[in-house]
Amino acid sequence: MRIGVFGGTFDPPHVGHLLLAADAREALSLDRLIFIPVWAQPFKVGTQPVASPQDRLEMVRLAVADDANYAVDDAEITRKGLSYTVDTLEHLAERYKGAQLFLLLGQDALAGFPQWRNPERIRELATLATTERSGTDGLRIELAGEGIVTISTRRVDVSSTEVRERLRAKKSIKGFVPESVERFIEARGLYR
Ligand code: ATP
Repeated sequence: MRIGVFGGTFDPPHVGHLLLAADAREALSLDRLIFIPVWAQPFKVGTQPVASPQDRLEMVRLAVADDANYAVDDAEITRKGLSYTVDTLEHLAERYKGAQLFLLLGQDALAGFPQWRNPERIRELATLATTERSGTDGLRIELAGEGIVTISTRRVDVSSTEVRERLRAKKSIKGFVPESVERFIEARGLYR
């Protein structure tokens, strides 16, 4: 079984996330792609997510609900505190024994990867799958070797930040997020 691991703040999840997921699933022939909303990112201390962990978890569930190839794991939300990828991968390796894990990483994340907690163990547990092509291959040379693949994916020009800003400005977010997520945001009055 080939399993992709897609961590993010998902504050809120948007179509960029879903297209990345679709591209990654196809490129890596994944049997399943698991979305993992983070509780708090070690490198984003000071900038806390806006929506609560429970609301972000619920929005990710809504965003992927009707696709059997996707799953949502609440391990980091349940664990609380800073979310370390190595802990999450240990949990997944235990839960899906014998599966091959692919950790999706944006180029930014890849650049900071050596500073993460226990990067060697992460690379034992998972294949790194970088999700954007860089203009140069500097990064790839630095980290080249076993256990890294680059998948070509599109970059849709949308971010959670933009969605939040649009909501604050009382602009429509139709088309930026799945309709179920839009309804949830509306019903809960999030990001106003
Ligand atoms: P924010 O604007 O709040 O920083 P974000 O939109 O970047 O949030 P995250 O939840 O931090 O969303 O994203 C998790 C991962 O999803 C990112 O590390 C990145 O690899 C990927 N991603 C986010 N937005 C896009 C997008 N528009 N296209 C492709 N990949 C994306």
